Amino acid sequence: MSPVSPAIRRVRHPLKIRELTVKRLTPVSPRLLRVTLTGDLADFVSASFDDHVKLFLPAEGESRPSLPTVTEQGIAFDPTRPRPAARDYTPRRFDPAANELDIEFVLHGEGPAVSWARRARVGDVLALGGPRGSSILPSGLDWYLLVGDETALPAIARRLEEATPEECILALVEVEDGDAVLDLPTAAQASVTWLRREAGQGGLPDAVGELILPEGDGFAWAAGEYASIRQVRQRLIEVHGLDRQRIRASSYWKQGEIASHEALDD
Ligand SMILES: Cc1cc2nc3c(=O)[nH]c(=O)nc-3n(C[C@H](O)[C@H](O)[C@H](O)COP(=O)(O)OP(=O)(O)OC[C@H]3O[C@@H](n4cnc5c(N)ncnc54)[C@H](O)[C@@H]3O)c2cc1C
Repeated sequence: MSPVSPAIRRVRHPLKIRELTVKRLTPVSPRLLRVTLTGDLADFVSASFDDHVKLFLPAEGESRPSLPTVTEQGIAFDPTRPRPAARDYTPRRFDPAANELDIEFVLHGEGPAVSWARRARVGDVLALGGPRGSSILPSGLDWYLLVGDETALPAIARRLEEATPEECILALVEVEDGDAVLDLPTAAQASVTWLRREAGQGGLPDAVGELILPEGDGFAWAAGEYASIRQVRQRLIEVHGLDRQRIRASSYWKQGEIASHEALDD
């Protein structure tokens, strides 16, 4: 096992806005669409599975979004054009040799991002900023727990794909139904449990409360809907006695709110 590095390490990256083109569209499941982007990806860096990029989406009827610029004061938008909607997404796979970046969209309902993904065609253009930074989670621990809904699935799949054979990983993933269950390749000693909402198995907090965690020193990562992940974090602390420093919990979306992103801590 590699030496233990217990703290989360934060790495900053220079902010760059890129214009990218859709190269391929691949349905991963009926609820998840992989969009492979190409274009100006020189020096793109994504150092951690829970990185995020900001997508700037063209409005319906526009062929490309107004490209924001990076200024000393932050990001600036062209005042003469409609301001593009901006949403956070996980860089699921970056392949510098093929010059490809995959983003996977949950096909949830209505919103600028999901609507753009639903009508996306090869050749369409969007703008992307970041990642601005990466949080490198502790390595060399006895076990890792990954908890999330479909919005966290790209990050969870990436974490499993990048894991080493020495790692022990438990994952709990909540999806709509059996069609959304994926094969998640990994070299790690991993156990993935799927909760299907349609079958009445939803409820990440209860599932987390009932978990039997391995012996030793571990780290829990959780992301998904705000209320659910807040409770997941509480159960990790109250039921499992996990140290707050050993939990990274994030709200990736919130019922009834647009573009919600929150780190959940005290
Ligand atoms: C760090 C980070 C990484 C993320 N990575 C991914 C990713 O890789 N793939 C991905 O699909 N999402 C990811 N998300 C979540 C995504 O940013 C949100 O779901 C976002 O709100 C979608 O934007 P939208 O324009 O489609 O909907 P919005 O305009 O933001 O919201 C419209 C309505 O839809 C609801 N809504 C939003 N998302 C969902 C959902 N998933 N299910 C049901 N209702 C929803 C909102 O509550 C709101 O009522 C990530 C979020 C963060 C913060």
